[in-house]
Amino acid sequence: MSFELPQLPHAYDALEPHIDARTMEIHHSKHHNGYTTKLNAAIDGTDLAGKSIEDICTGMDMSNKAVRNNGGGYYNHNQFWTAMSPNGGGTPSGDLAAAIDSAFGSFDEFKAAFSSAAGTRFGSGWAWLCVKDGKLEVCSSANQDNPLMPGIGCGGAPILGLDVWEHAYYLNYQNRRPDYIAAFFNVINWDEISTRFAAVI
Ligand code: MN
Repeated sequence: MSFELPQLPHAYDALEPHIDARTMEIHHSKHHNGYTTKLNAAIDGTDLAGKSIEDICTGMDMSNKAVRNNGGGYYNHNQFWTAMSPNGGGTPSGDLAAAIDSAFGSFDEFKAAFSSAAGTRFGSGWAWLCVKDGKLEVCSSANQDNPLMPGIGCGGAPILGLDVWEHAYYLNYQNRRPDYIAAFFNVINWDEISTRFAAVI
C-alpha cells in the first residue's frame, strides 16, 4: 500500500485572490505529487512500507535524506491544503481561541508571532503552530522538516503549518513573502484547526 496524492478539498482557483490558481495547480500537481512519488520509491521494500506517514515522521532517521525530505513534504502538504478554505479567515472561536489568548495574550499577538516565524525562516521551510505539553507554541522548520521529527528544535503536535518555500508564492508575490503570509490569514480554515486542536489537547 503506497501513499497517494490527496485531492484538493477545493478547486485550484478557490482561494483567489489570496492564493492564485496557477500556484495551486503547480504546487499540488507537481511539487506535492513529486514528494509523494519519491516517498513511495524511498520506502518501497523497506520496513517503513505500510507505516502511517505520522509514524514515519515521528520515527524519522534524520540521516535518511530521501525519506526525510519526501516524507516531510508529503505530510506537510497534506495538512496545508486542508488548513485553507475559501470560507476561511477571521479568527478562531471556542477552546482554540481561549488557548491562543492564554499562550500569546491575544489573537493579534499570535498572528504577529506566527508571521514573524514564517517571515524570518531563511530560505525554504515552514512555520508551525503546535501543541506542546498542553500549550500552544509557534516555531519554524527548515526544508521539509516538521515538528513530528526528532531533534529539529520545533516540536509538539502540529495543528497549523504554512509553507514558505518560494514555490508556494513566487508566481504571484515574487519576493514579497510578508504579503503572502498576510494573505494566508485570509484563508485559514479555523474550523479545521480547531478540530485538530481538540484531537491533540
Ligand atoms: Mn510546498
